[in-house]
Amino acid sequence: MNCDELRDSYELYALGIAEEPERGEIRAHLERDCPTCVPGVRGARELTTLIGATAPAAEPPARLRKRVLAIAGGGTGPLLKWSRLWIAVAAGALIAAVVFNTRAQHASEELARVQAESAAQTRELARLNEAFAILNQPDARQVVFGGAAPQPPRGRVFLDRTRGVLLLASNLPPAPAGKTYEMWVIPKGGKPVPAGLFQSAADGTALHLLAGPVNVAGTAAVAVTLEVAAGVPQPTSTPIIAAFTEPRP
Ligand SMILES: [Zn+2]
Repeated sequence: MNCDELRDSYELYALGIAEEPERGEIRAHLERDCPTCVPGVRGARELTTLIGATAPAAEPPARLRKRVLAIAGGGTGPLLKWSRLWIAVAAGALIAAVVFNTRAQHASEELARVQAESAAQTRELARLNEAFAILNQPDARQVVFGGAAPQPPRGRVFLDRTRGVLLLASNLPPAPAGKTYEMWVIPKGGKPVPAGLFQSAADGTALHLLAGPVNVAGTAAVAVTLEVAAGVPQPTSTPIIAAFTEPRP
């Protein structure tokens, strides 16, 4: 296997959970001082150590989030492998948090900060795991939006009867100050139902999840509008995203 094919397995290798043939291949590349894999695995080790130390929480989930978006954009992907990685990472963060707690008994302020970061990270990982669970449902309804438009935004909506609605978008510029994106689930012949507020990332990607049962057959569309930061009970602007579950006449 070449370095490009091994790149996605560096983190798994660093965590000691890579499978064959990737594990053996990476080891062989490291043994012959491969100029790509040696720094790659070193970087992966640093990342996993960083996560383990519950250091700045934003970076690892942001990176993992990118993976979900990449997988969703690219169709099939190594979903199960990444699910496993997340579980390992979450477990690592938890262990590290316990160890850190013991050491930091006298630095209560620092401890509170780390706990908050750790909790935020755990929440983000849980959210990403939920997103993965929906992507892994073979019978989840998938709706593509924005394909025909020359400009932003585009992406997919996944509707799963028991797990909820997952929105993955790209080309969605960050909402202006004081504004937020609000998702709506629009029932057939009914008024839009608020489905949560979200922001897009600096790179224009967004992942928003409404967890819980959803009436897939009774849903006409999933839409997104730009609203005031606190959100509104009914949309007040033209949808930026409108994903219709059935072709429109
Ligand atoms: Zn290599």
